[in-house]
Amino acid sequence: MGQKKKIGKQRKDKYYQLAKETGKFLLFLLYPILSHKQLLGFRSRAAFKLIQLNRKFEFLQKSRVCIDLCAAPGGWMQVAKQNMPVSSIVIGIDLFPIKPIPGCISLTEDITTEKCRVALTRELKTWKADVVLHDGAPNVGKNWLHDAYQQSCLTLSSLKLATQFLRPGGWFITKVFRSKDYHPLIWVLKQLFKKVHATKPQASRNESAEIFVVCQYYIAPDKIDTKFMDPKYVFQELEIEPKNKLNVFHPEKKKKDKAEGYPENDYTLHHKLKASDFIKHENGIDIIQNASEVSLHI
Ligand code: SAM
Repeated sequence: MGQKKKIGKQRKDKYYQLAKETGKFLLFLLYPILSHKQLLGFRSRAAFKLIQLNRKFEFLQKSRVCIDLCAAPGGWMQVAKQNMPVSSIVIGIDLFPIKPIPGCISLTEDITTEKCRVALTRELKTWKADVVLHDGAPNVGKNWLHDAYQQSCLTLSSLKLATQFLRPGGWFITKVFRSKDYHPLIWVLKQLFKKVHATKPQASRNESAEIFVVCQYYIAPDKIDTKFMDPKYVFQELEIEPKNKLNVFHPEKKKKDKAEGYPENDYTLHHKLKASDFIKHENGIDIIQNASEVSLHI
């Protein structure tokens, strides 16, 4: 009982702080009868993740054009609109229709398609985006490895769109799954942005394998090798070890980049468990809970 109360109090304190910061402090008095999402008027719990990312990196305040990929039901669009200058443009895209949000444009498209690129070009004309957001989650549920791969492919598709619409110096903020594809993805991002920060906002549950990567200063190369956007090449052929190859490309960096907000050396929650260890272990249930893959090698 005591433990439950404590968690409830921490939760309350966290959203009390958010309510204060988002200027909805008075509404907080309704906390006992409304959920924090209703309380602050956001369409998704995910909205809090963007609030926290933006509080740390401040990419919205000066942005005039924002593209939000995989945006339904529109929580991130609401946060973007609230934090950008008054006359700014927010374009949200999703497979599913997004209910209108004042001052925002919504497109119902699949971000992996050419049709989506054409629709975006039609909206933006010659404008370039200051920031591209991506919080996509593919339709998953097969098994951990398959789901993680789909997530990585979707992130790569979002990066492809970002490179087509971002202005030089722009921001790209994306959700990434901590899986074996994490390091190759970061490697590709580092070829295209001057700074790449991995972070886990408080609003993202610890048990969730998601992490957010904030990429700053788009380099906008004249030509981008198409292999960088090809999942087969990036996730199967590119052999990136966490340290060695990255340092070859960034020899000036002596120290490892710190994964802010996330425990050091644990970018990946992909834990392999040997079947033999599982069998030998006195409490197999405990160790299998942390495993993403069980290997049959003896
Ligand atoms: N950031 C959103 C918010 O705050 O309301 C929540 C996004 S939700 C976690 C993930 C979204 O990704 C879903 O609405 C889903 O339809 C969308 N999605 C997944 N695959 C997509 C694709 N290929 N093209 C467009 N949207 C996609």
